[in-house]
Amino acid sequence: MTTHSSSIAEDPRVQQAFSYLVETDETTLRTQIELSEIAAPPFHEGKRGLRLARLFHAAGLVDVRSDEAGNVIADRPGASDERALVVSAHLDTVFPEGTDVSVTREGDLLRGPGISDDARGLACMMAVVRALQDSGLRTARPLLFVGTVGEEGMGDLRGVKELFRSGGDGEGASGFISLDGAGLDRIVVHGLGSRRYRITVQGPGGHSWVDWGTANPLHALNRVGGRLTALPLSKEPRATLTLARTGGGTSINAIPQEAWLEVDTRCSESSHLDSLQEQIRSVVDEEVGREPGLRARIEVVGDRPGGETPEEEPLVQAALEATRGRGRMPQLALSSTDANVPMALGIPALTLGCGGDAGLAHTTDEWYRNVNGPDGTIRALHTILLYAGITPAA
Ligand SMILES: [Zn+2]
Repeated sequence: MTTHSSSIAEDPRVQQAFSYLVETDETTLRTQIELSEIAAPPFHEGKRGLRLARLFHAAGLVDVRSDEAGNVIADRPGASDERALVVSAHLDTVFPEGTDVSVTREGDLLRGPGISDDARGLACMMAVVRALQDSGLRTARPLLFVGTVGEEGMGDLRGVKELFRSGGDGEGASGFISLDGAGLDRIVVHGLGSRRYRITVQGPGGHSWVDWGTANPLHALNRVGGRLTALPLSKEPRATLTLARTGGGTSINAIPQEAWLEVDTRCSESSHLDSLQEQIRSVVDEEVGREPGLRARIEVVGDRPGGETPEEEPLVQAALEATRGRGRMPQLALSSTDANVPMALGIPALTLGCGGDAGLAHTTDEWYRNVNGPDGTIRALHTILLYAGITPAA
């Protein structure tokens, strides 16, 4: 028998776990600082991952391991054979190798690149693990704790993609919670999808006077760009198309041999991204085809699937109840996070902030202020317990 209800918050072991999170708030902050000070540039999360694996191990989680993408994974077995709940935070930052990632602290104010996004999520995940271990609470569902790689930018969600691929450690999970950054009110249940392209056009090139009339990659790409910006876009759900970067050519007095254009498309619904992809392909084919001698190549340089978790899902209900339990007004929100991938696969998924305030994310001036910090860790734990269920006290 397991308890799946509001009575969970009244269970003395749960009360103990909540108190533990308040009492160990300083430990949580120290973990946040420690992990933030281990550089984790895109595609180089290994060192921070190793430290997280040690923390998982020291806390008593079992089968600590990493997968092919570099995700760090650990189990906390449940009392039932129900499908697992995945709880995660991302290891990577947007900051390149060589960035000074030291953290400075004045009281509750911490400054350092990545201190909130996502050192806060990692520290919150560890706080939740320690509180569970300290209270001896046993959940009905097994819990899978994961530090993911590749959440940011060109990482293109490769960590969660590996986790949820067929045969991946998250396959068959019943739900997914990503702990990401600060805040107490937002619950991300809409996953903004994006697909990004690099269009490269090549031609013979030549002298801009002597060879004028030779097929010109830049002329073709400019026609392509003009037509793409005129494509009709869905308003509901909102879809966007942005010409983001362009370049090419060798000299002011030369017909380019090569030119390129990068295009970013976004929408919460994959079918709209699919349709934009087809339109982009046909525009490129037509415009490049007008000048014999040109070759075009379209690379998909980013693909984040969109999706959503319906409000009626028990996981969302759990997060709403846990947020209200902190005396807050929950807001269902749209963002692009690790939760996108399970959402797109139909697995209930959401992303929660972990308390405190933060700002200037993705800059080296990023800061985190620990106001209501424990409310963030308690909200995360409460959401997990409501969804995973707990076994009665022995
Ligand atoms: Zn993040």
